[in-house]
Amino acid sequence: MHKKVIIIGSGPAGLTAAVYTARANLAPLVFEGSQPGGQLSITTDVENYPGFPDGIMGPQLMDEFRKQAQRFGAECHFQTVDKVNLSNRPFKLWTGNDEYFADAIIISTGASARLLGLKSESTLMGYGVSACATCDGFFFKEKKVMVVGGGDSAAEEAIFLTKFASEVWLIHRRDELRASKIMQKRVFDHPKINIHWNNIIEDIHGTQETGVTAVVLKDTISGEKSEESCDGVFMAIGHTPNTDLFQDYIDLDSNGYIITKPDTTYTNVDGVFACGDVQDHNYRQAVTAAGTGCMAAMDSERWLENQHI
Ligand code: NAP
Repeated sequence: MHKKVIIIGSGPAGLTAAVYTARANLAPLVFEGSQPGGQLSITTDVENYPGFPDGIMGPQLMDEFRKQAQRFGAECHFQTVDKVNLSNRPFKLWTGNDEYFADAIIISTGASARLLGLKSESTLMGYGVSACATCDGFFFKEKKVMVVGGGDSAAEEAIFLTKFASEVWLIHRRDELRASKIMQKRVFDHPKINIHWNNIIEDIHGTQETGVTAVVLKDTISGEKSEESCDGVFMAIGHTPNTDLFQDYIDLDSNGYIITKPDTTYTNVDGVFACGDVQDHNYRQAVTAAGTGCMAAMDSERWLENQHI
């Protein structure tokens, strides 16, 4: 199949690019990837997306984005692109054995949750260890859980988990939170949340049969270790950009984010554009991702026009 524009990724950036390219009659094809709707599809209340004074649930917001794009002719495939060849135009993409051609590509693959890298963490992932409170919080009714991190995600997950858990420990490696002041206040004021400053999780105990039973905490200043019983561990230590697929072709910064030319969504490959969290490690908001999605659509439309495609 040959398309003028293929969009890889379906968060606010990708689906906004789809709305705009569809309205420009470019009939875009969106590959939604392994997490349709992107990170907002695993969030609860979104309180800061303009136009929703009472907030909106993340998955619902993304369904609305998709419907809006489809209304103008965008095609959304619930498939993951697993290979690309960006050396010649038209560009080539594959989902399994299916091959696609595109005159222009918009990359909006976002970023994925970062993990601590412990062996016990990967063994117990899904068995008491999670990177998504919204997905798994329900399983921890009246349980004691740990949340790792000190940013807005950690604060948000800790607050969300208080709806289920009897006790939430926030484990942070420093003595101050990175989270915004409003989130900090909510965490500090919450009677169910205990903050454990200057601590990291060094190991997680439990088996896939028992689930998580305890963690080993290490004080980052004294080096002292202690074992604390708990039933769940939620990782909220930031994200890594999903750029592995493109690393042979696209210029990335030292953290793996796609480099776009100043004030545009142009990458180093002519005809390939990038938007959203995959190229923004600074703002990382739904509304800024949507904004750059719009930019990518307009950049690609103008670029195609200049190529007389
Ligand atoms: P973040 O701001 O990068 O925070 C990551 C946190 O994890 C930091 O506190 C960091 O500690 C800690 N951390 C990182 N690696 C660690 C490790 N190996 N071991 C222990 N701790 C580690 O990431 P985020 O919280 O996911 O937020 C990302 C962006 O999304 C931010 O711009 C945030 O404002 C935004 N966001 C907004 C909302 C909202 O407005 N409702 C909700 C979620 C996220 P240090 O502080 O020591 O570096």
